[in-house]
Amino acid sequence: MIQQNPVMRVCISCRKTYDRENLFKITKDHKQGIMFGRGMGRSAYICQSKKCYSDSKIKKKLQKSLKTFLEPEFIEIFEKEITSY
Ligand SMILES: [Zn+2]
Repeated sequence: MIQQNPVMRVCISCRKTYDRENLFKITKDHKQGIMFGRGMGRSAYICQSKKCYSDSKIKKKLQKSLKTFLEPEFIEIFEKEITSY
């Protein structure tokens, strides 16, 4: 089936709207905790602009939109994941 309308989501950093396909997804999974690009639960999206994912406030923004606490080591894993995305 051809999807006619792309699913649009807002980047939590620049607040611009993008096709979900082009966004990096971080999910707070009900069972497994924070997951990248998969998982079920509350999700946040970040666009592929370096300005957004390297933002010094990105962890704070993620915590706010996922309504969770992120471990200090989260940001290292996050950067690794997003640069290999
Ligand atoms: Zn952005």
